Amino acid sequence: TIRTRFAPSPTGYLHVGGARTALFSWLYARKHGGQFVLRIEDTDLERSSIESVNAILEGMTWLGLDYDEGPFYQTQRFDRYKAVIQQLLEQGDAYYCYCSKDELEVMREQQRQNKEKPRYDGRCRHRQDIPADIQPVIRFKNPTTGQVVVKDMIRGDVSFNNSELDDLVIARPDGTPTYNLTVVVDDMDMGMTHVIRGDDHLNNSPRQINIFKALGATPPMFAHVPMILGDDGARLSKRHGAVSVMSYRDEGFLPEALLNYLIRLGWSHGDQEIFSLDEMIQLFDIEDVNRAASSFNTEKLLWLNQHYIKSSSAEHIAKHLSWHLGQLGIDPTQGPAITDVIVLLQERAKTLKEMAENCRYFYQIISDYDEKAASKNLTSEALPILENAHTRLAALPTWTAEPIHAEIKNCASQFDVGMGKVAQPIRVAITGNTVSPSLDQTLALYGRERTLSAISKATE
Ligand code: GLU
Repeated sequence: TIRTRFAPSPTGYLHVGGARTALFSWLYARKHGGQFVLRIEDTDLERSSIESVNAILEGMTWLGLDYDEGPFYQTQRFDRYKAVIQQLLEQGDAYYCYCSKDELEVMREQQRQNKEKPRYDGRCRHRQDIPADIQPVIRFKNPTTGQVVVKDMIRGDVSFNNSELDDLVIARPDGTPTYNLTVVVDDMDMGMTHVIRGDDHLNNSPRQINIFKALGATPPMFAHVPMILGDDGARLSKRHGAVSVMSYRDEGFLPEALLNYLIRLGWSHGDQEIFSLDEMIQLFDIEDVNRAASSFNTEKLLWLNQHYIKSSSAEHIAKHLSWHLGQLGIDPTQGPAITDVIVLLQERAKTLKEMAENCRYFYQIISDYDEKAASKNLTSEALPILENAHTRLAALPTWTAEPIHAEIKNCASQFDVGMGKVAQPIRVAITGNTVSPSLDQTLALYGRERTLSAISKATE
């Protein structure tokens, strides 16, 4: 069976590039009825943090990328790595390297002068004079001849000459293992069949394949996913604005909008733009991912978000909206049913954050009006109109959108003014501002008593 993994280093939040890699790995496993494993690569003790681990787990949960095994932590597997390093030493595939920093620098300088690519020349493979005062590192004895082929599902076969790969450090002077060793041991032990990761790792893959082979294991298939660029063509980073997955939650995006956006970054299916999760699983194939980098486009993400807000059930939106309401201190149990308010707002909302802000007047009495809106609409001419509207609305036999609409119309014709001259002052009285969904529906939800007292307050 197919087994894939997502293996983040917990040195920051989960960013969109990592999330896309995770999504591709997850989809590949789900599509083939395989398993998806989460592995936290936390061996770099100085740069890893528990906050970052939590942020990554939170991001995975929010996106709905569930894992069948894990999270595994590399820091809990040091004994295993030590044993493998020992094995490599014993079978002659690794050796101690006593080169000092200075010696390495001299070596590289010479290579630069000879116009060679700087690389470790393997001198400690045969070292006789072992210095007493140096804590050695351990290097992997990379084959010196032949080729190694990375079988890549996006790029096809990528060949490397072994003569160009130098002997990797697999253990630091203190004995702790390095990334290229731990990743191989884990991918081997955890039975990974497909390694899907960022293309910044493409140059690591031939070295890792050689380690797999030295350990008598079959290397997995690889897929190196091209990077994501910002709108200026540089690698997407903090400079370009929000890059952490959770900041998209904060800005009011639905997870399915972000997932839909991420899958389309470098992958397409005809000109289809909208993909449900089921469709993604059915249609996605890692082989169809573009080799070229793709650019992040916030406008398109917003468009998708709006689509999902418009087309989701109010119950579904309510689940995600409640976090935003909480952030704004809005208690949606005191007032109209939140799902009714969502139905009213979802047609136009671009983000859940904006939607939550527009929920405010349904649950809180607006005590201050927008200044411009008030000076333009709560004028002395508007006073008698508001009073008349108040009387009419108070007398309505039923409080639903249609009769409310009719009374506003009647009021306008009594004063021989356009509907706006009635609707806008009422809108300011209720919402504090001049924008809201259709006024009759808003008032119907807002309730008669609150409508009347808001109008009275505006005429004081
Ligand atoms: N921990 C590595 C990273 O975050 C990923 C390693 C891998 O996927 O093989 O870049």
